[in-house]
Amino acid sequence: MVLMDNFAFLLPFFMTVFGVLFLLARFWSGVSATQWGLGFLAAAAGFCVPLMSFAPVVVQALLADFLFLAAFFLYGEALLVRFGKSLTRPLRLSLASIGYLAIAFAVVVWGDLRSELIFSDIACAVLIGVPVIQVVRAPRRRIDVVLVAICGLVLVETVTRVSLFALLTSSGDGLSLESYMQSAYAYYSQLGASIIAFLLALAVLGTVVSDVIGRYRHAAEHDALSLLLNRRGFDQRIPKQPQGAIVVGDIDNFKDINDRFGHAIGDLVISSFAELLRQHFPKQAIIARFGGEEFVAFLPDHSANEAGTAAEKFRKALGAHSWEGILSDRQISASFGVTAIAKSDFALQDAISRADAYLYDAKRNGRNRVIVEGTKQFDHIKLVHAAPAR
Ligand code: GH3
Ligand code: MG
Ligand code: MG
Repeated sequence: MVLMDNFAFLLPFFMTVFGVLFLLARFWSGVSATQWGLGFLAAAAGFCVPLMSFAPVVVQALLADFLFLAAFFLYGEALLVRFGKSLTRPLRLSLASIGYLAIAFAVVVWGDLRSELIFSDIACAVLIGVPVIQVVRAPRRRIDVVLVAICGLVLVETVTRVSLFALLTSSGDGLSLESYMQSAYAYYSQLGASIIAFLLALAVLGTVVSDVIGRYRHAAEHDALSLLLNRRGFDQRIPKQPQGAIVVGDIDNFKDINDRFGHAIGDLVISSFAELLRQHFPKQAIIARFGGEEFVAFLPDHSANEAGTAAEKFRKALGAHSWEGILSDRQISASFGVTAIAKSDFALQDAISRADAYLYDAKRNGRNRVIVEGTKQFDHIKLVHAAPAR
């Protein structure tokens, strides 16, 4: 880790700023902000070590290298945590220890600054390289692709720089370490490394901002009790020209549940009902809680009958569900209205209103049933004929 005077203050300064920012962001952002924050602070501290001019050079070198290795270890940890990969800590700690032993040997036993620099950069490359290989296929979002690409760039830059350094200063006709340090090449290679470090910080910042926005967007589009979409989230996910069917469901006599068992148990019934919907409705269904104990599902590319079959399957699963320990002897049932989205529907709300009307019919006709537009009915108690689709 060669440090030119020009970067002596700038680099640790911006790394400290980013480090503190990432540590603060961990309260709002997703996982990995902590590791990035600690990593940037460790690197910033590493760059500050030369300011300890009172300390012996050997101590400075050992401390700075320890901090750089810690920084790269933490960068790797951040990547692995972010993409939910195995942390491979025993492997990475062993590699870090071997690297540090080699550095200590070069510094203390050989007193060889060149070997120290080479070992330090190789160890850093390995510590970022192993996680990069582990996560290279994991990114889904664009900002994560950028993040992994820049980590790959850090790896390539480190390997290239250390290789050229080893080559240029090799014994024989190579440069002395002193003249290398003062060369324009060394200056630009440090400048390049600093720019890449800055890009890495920006990419991490991008992921942190994206996590924060994603988190608030998720909260704005979901219902906190059922964890299903709310109306806004539902509207966002419906295609512009939807084809399929709408199912509207409403829990039967829910007021009675609240009155008999209390509001908290009522809430538990709503969240369990939502969980059952997630389990038993087709995977591609977009399901939302529209308020109270009313739920709406959009089933893409389903006919009214197919959606009715899905609703009936769910109704039966609900009937078979055990509420023991929550409602003692009481069972939960629900009524459903089902309609296909018609070409003549001006807005999705038209289909929802129509399904709502069938739901109302289901309630009037004794509850605990599915009423589908058209001819085929799903009714285990008695057949109810609904008006056909427009
Ligand atoms: P029906 O079979 O006709 O649907 O009868 P119902 O009692 O289910 O219908 P009603 O609309 O009269 O009652 C719905 C009740 O749901 C009234 C309201 O207090 C309760 N409710 C609405 N939101 C919540 C909630 O978030 N938690 C709880 N526990 N109750 C809620
Ligand atoms: Mg109800
Ligand atoms: Mg209701």
